Order: sequence, then structure tokens, then C-alpha cells
Amino acid sequence: MITKPKGCYDVIDKESLKLKKINRYIDYYCEFYNYDFIRTPIFEARELFHRTVGDDTDIVTKETYDFQDRSNRELTLRPEGTAGVVRSFIENKMYGNNLPRKLYYNGTMYRYERPGNGRNREFTQFGVEILGSNDVAVDVEVISFAYRLFEELGFKDLNVHINNLGSKEDRESYKKALKEYLKPYINDLCEDCKKRYETNPLRILDCKVDKDSEILKKVPNILEYQSEESKKRFQKVLEYLEYLDVDYEVDSKLVRGLDYYDYTVFEIVSSEEVLGSASTIAAGGRYNDLVEKLGGPSTPCMGFACGIERIMLALDKIEIQEKRPLDCYILYVNEEEKIKAITLAQDLRCSGVSVDYDTTGRSLKSQFKEADRNHAQLLVLLNSEDLQKGLISVKDNLTKEEVKIDENEIIDYIVSNG
Ligand code: ATP
Ligand code: MG
Repeated sequence: MITKPKGCYDVIDKESLKLKKINRYIDYYCEFYNYDFIRTPIFEARELFHRTVGDDTDIVTKETYDFQDRSNRELTLRPEGTAGVVRSFIENKMYGNNLPRKLYYNGTMYRYERPGNGRNREFTQFGVEILGSNDVAVDVEVISFAYRLFEELGFKDLNVHINNLGSKEDRESYKKALKEYLKPYINDLCEDCKKRYETNPLRILDCKVDKDSEILKKVPNILEYQSEESKKRFQKVLEYLEYLDVDYEVDSKLVRGLDYYDYTVFEIVSSEEVLGSASTIAAGGRYNDLVEKLGGPSTPCMGFACGIERIMLALDKIEIQEKRPLDCYILYVNEEEKIKAITLAQDLRCSGVSVDYDTTGRSLKSQFKEADRNHAQLLVLLNSEDLQKGLISVKDNLTKEEVKIDENEIIDYIVSNG
């Protein structure tokens, strides 16, 4: 037997109901907040992720699925969504007018990680990006949008962890201070962090190995190395969050695992026990330099991404609506009745009625059972004798009342009684 690849999974049965519910909420919410849906390719030029996510991030150095196609193009399965959206924004010249551009995506991502609770190799991210505004109202809208959406989905104890990475200059002066502080401890850091010390010291704060060490607990505070302007901007973000009743906690060690962030960064953490170490359900921030870095005009942006699998895990305890009952099930025996079943099903479906009928040669008795299994409300009982008189029997599956309806009025009857 051929089995699914490691770190991948099938969505079936109850899980697929859950996924549909989540996707419905996402589409509904995004319309309310005026986001347009965007779909970008699942694979892109490898270069794109090196330039955006960053050469010395875990994602790019350890987790990408890289391959060459038959013409030796260097391609990568996307490990995240922002790079593709920004590439598309530039390639389609969306920067030309109608800014800010508000986009959302929802699709599979690929990372070669050790699979575990809430951690897969193929996983799904939903995310939004607002391109073309540096207003703090945008930072706050993105954060509160995520927060409200998760609340609406049924999450109870959510917390926003937020930090300010400041401008490039702010980060340069912080990096200096951080390196100065870490210098005597270099040999006590993990192998990756020893490299990060030279290439990207900020990344050390995000290290999963050294995270709880005494050394990292006492690092200088990034918020103290920022210009008055950066500090004021961050204060305003926090003030606006308070207006919107979003619970937050400033975490000066939050830097995020991707290179492109500046100013506001945040994570939304859930205390649902099932999530364990996968408690971060969404993460994002500002990336004001990325569009320019990829060859577009200077465009300030803000966005977030969330892991749909983690939402599904946490939603285990939350009540999911059962499968919607079928409005109508059509029963038939012979060929003449079957043709009527097929055409009637199509007409009813076009009129907004959910309908099904047997396609496996079941006996009439098991067609009744099948109708019950689908919780069908009305049964259409086709029989040749009635059909010759232009009549069709309809039975209410609950009251068991049966009526004969003129063939020409059957659609109207079912639409108003279904
Ligand atoms: P983590 O610290 O858990 O590895 P990350 O910093 O790598 O997360 P991001 O790249 O910011 O995560 O992705 C945003 C969200 O996508 C995460 O908060 C999480 O919900 C989800 N996510 C990331 N990697 C995976 C994965 N391998 N499997 C399932 N969900 C994931
Ligand atoms: Mg990760």
C-alpha cells in the first residue's frame, strides 16, 4: 500500500467539516474588512525566498523543499505566503493606484520540519497583507482583525505578544549593544547561534535551543535602543489597541523567524492545552522595506499569517455543526424513472435545493436508508405509472405525509416545502 508522505495528512470526515467552517469564516470576515482574495503559485523561483525570508533563517537554511524542473530551473515549494504576494504586487504593478491594497491568501505551505503536534510538512496558512500604508491604524487593524476572527471561531484565552523592532538604524544600534553583551558568552551559545552572532545576531533571541538560558534572559532591551520617533509610533500602536479592547503584552524579545520585519511585530498565542508548544496560532508584522528590496517602489506594508492546522487542533473542543441535512432525496427503480431523477435533480439544484439520488444500483429499501443517512427532509418517489399521468409523489420524511404533485409544479412545491 502507498501511504501519505511523512508530515502530510488527509482532511476527511469531521476534520473536513471543521476546515470548511474555518474557511467560511475567513471568507466572510475578509469581505467585511475589505480584503481581496489572491492566489499565487505553490512554487516560486528559489531566489525569491532567499531574498525575502532571509539567507540565514531556519526556514531557508533547513526547511525548504528545493527542486529543479526538467529545464533546470531552481524552484522552491513556498514555505510562507508573503514573498509570493509581494512578488505578485510588483509584477502586476498593483502599486500604481488604489493604495493601500488589501489582500488575503489561504493555501498550503511546505517546510521540512520534524512533524509533531501542530507542526506538519505540508500545512495551511491563511494570511492578510495591507500594502501601501504606514499608518498605525493599519498595524492595529491587522492585529485586531486576527484577534476578533479567532474569538469568533471560539478561542477564549487569547493573548497578543507585541514588540517594536524599530527602523533599520534602531536595529543597527541594538545589534551593536547585543553583540557587546553576548561577546563573553559566545562559546555557551548553540552552534547555530554562534553563526548567527556574526550573520544576524537579532535572530539569537528567536533561538528555540537557547531561549530559556540565563544568558538570553538578561539581554539588553531592544525598546531602549530606539529613536524618539520609533518609540512614539509604538506607543500609538499600543494606545489604539487599547481603544479596540485587544489584550496585549509587550515582549521585548519577540523578533520573529523571518528577516523582513521592522517596527511592529506580533504573535497571537492561545492557552488551549491541546496546542502544547505549538501555542502560537498567528504571527506577523510590518515589512516596510521588502517591496523595494524585491525591485518595486518603496511601499510600507503590514500583514500576518496563521496556521490553520493549529486552529483545527484547538477547535477540537468547540462544537462543530453537523453536516447540513439534504433538502431532498430522489428514489427510483427503472430506467424511465432514472432519467427523470437525473433531470429533476439538476433542475432542483439550479433552484437552490440540495438533492441527491442513488448511483450504485441500490434496492428501493436501501435507497430509503440512504435518504435517512443524509437526513433528507423530503423524499421524491418516482414511479412510471404516476409519471405517465404527469404526477410525482413527494413524502415528508419526518411526518411521513405523502402527496401527489403535478409534474409542472414539482419544483415550486419542493422549493417552498423543502
Ligand atoms: P514556530 O515558531 O512555531 O516554528 P514560525 O515562527 O516558524 O512558527 P511563521 O513562519 O511565523 O511561524 O508562520 C506563522 C504561523 O504558521 C505559525 O504561527 C503557525 O501557526 C503556522 N505554522 C508555521 N509552521 C508550521 C508548521 N510546520 N506546521 C503547521 N503550522 C505551522
Ligand atoms: Mg518554524
